[in-house]
Amino acid sequence: MALKLFNTLTQQLEELRPLHEGEVRMYTCGPTVYHYVHIGNLRTFVFQDLLRRYIRYRGFRLLHVMNITDVEDKIIARAQEEGVSIQDYTRRFEEAFIEDMEILRIQQPEVMPRATEHIPEMLDLIRRLQERGNTYQRDGSTYFSIGTFPDYGKLSRVDLSQVDAESTGEEDEYGKENPRDFALWKRRRPEEAFWDSDFGAGRPGWHIECSAMSMKYLGESFDIHCGGVDLIFPHHENEIAQSEAATGRPFVRHWVHGAHLIVEGEKMSKSKGNFFTLRDLLDQGHNPQALRYLLSSVHYRRQLNFTFQGVEQAQAALQRVNDFLQRIREVPEGRPDDPPLGSAIERARRDFEAGLDNDLNTSEALAALFTLIKDVNILLDEQRVGSQDREAILKLFSDADRIFDVFQVEEPKLKDAQIEALIAERQQARQERKFDRADEIRNQLVERGILLEDTKEGTRWKKVN
Ligand code: AMP
Ligand code: ZN
Repeated sequence: MALKLFNTLTQQLEELRPLHEGEVRMYTCGPTVYHYVHIGNLRTFVFQDLLRRYIRYRGFRLLHVMNITDVEDKIIARAQEEGVSIQDYTRRFEEAFIEDMEILRIQQPEVMPRATEHIPEMLDLIRRLQERGNTYQRDGSTYFSIGTFPDYGKLSRVDLSQVDAESTGEEDEYGKENPRDFALWKRRRPEEAFWDSDFGAGRPGWHIECSAMSMKYLGESFDIHCGGVDLIFPHHENEIAQSEAATGRPFVRHWVHGAHLIVEGEKMSKSKGNFFTLRDLLDQGHNPQALRYLLSSVHYRRQLNFTFQGVEQAQAALQRVNDFLQRIREVPEGRPDDPPLGSAIERARRDFEAGLDNDLNTSEALAALFTLIKDVNILLDEQRVGSQDREAILKLFSDADRIFDVFQVEEPKLKDAQIEALIAERQQARQERKFDRADEIRNQLVERGILLEDTKEGTRWKKVN
């Protein structure tokens, strides 16, 4: 069993065999921090998180880099409008992004470099390209000449004769030899932030940032590069051109691209009113675990149609898993396994892993868990699940949760306020001489490691293991 991923470069499913024995090196294009990220961006970041976690689940060490794009034409313009520095402008969105990641339990990559802190590395790379004859200058900007890189187009397989400058976001520059050439270094615009360099005062192009930062931390060749499908062309095509032209070596082995999220069947846009940030959805009362579950449950290469009905279904599916886990935890110690479920549990684990091995197919993996839940629920109704199987099932879900991170495998811990509320309720029950209810509450608390001590001043409690 081995993890296979669909490689956009070869258009094939390929086993992940890292260049460095036992260690996978992966780069994911991070957010451009001039606004709050939307739920579509988060779909991509969740898919990358699932991949990250499954790589480690499969026993590899992982070095994962995700950049923060904190310099870009729109950022520079907006900071200028507000009269603040680029840094002041972008930091709040960067912080908001980290918060969103935490809420959705997206693990932080090992390195999260900021573009503005890697200008010298970008300039070095441009210099190397200049020495190798891949660049030219026009009107104070420096361009990459795609005619000097015969492999140009190998990732996206685009028909270059159909591509114009507008579709590559390069329309604001003139004087290029070929409209499809792209800027490595853009000349300074009056009154805007800039950096001094051998190439004149200016700012970096967007593509050079990812080439420079990925190769700095991961080496000139590395294993995986991810992003949403919109980045295949021109961004990733240009990254390949710059990197391979400069080093003469293959840049990335596996290119892994996630399909987009749309909302209620339509492309998200502010004007249509179907544009959501995580904050918007939380303000509407949606549960972050249900959102993570929803974003995780569709295979990353399939378009995800986000609907509010879908959020409800995700919430219900998650509840089904968590109710099941609650019932499993309640199986008493010493009850025999009748019949033993060992092989069914093993099969569920095998199918779960086979699903994820198969190009990170999360919906196949989840289906394996639901099949087990369905079968075991029937036996639970008849009190035939034993305590040995209880442990094996909890272990399976706890392992699965290393990837999905949404299941309630352990007894939820009571918060202090909940404990106080239960104690008050018990007090009330005692005053009303409902001693059965009072004892029930005491026992419930004891089972969850809370000991009560009745004193003259009232009831005190403490946590024990
Ligand atoms: P950006 O901040 O625009 O560079 O986007 C960050 C990430 O989100 C990139 O990997 C994009 O490919 C991805 N992305 C952008 N829009 C969507 C969408 N609607 N659905 C899924 N991913 C998206
Ligand atoms: Zn990038």
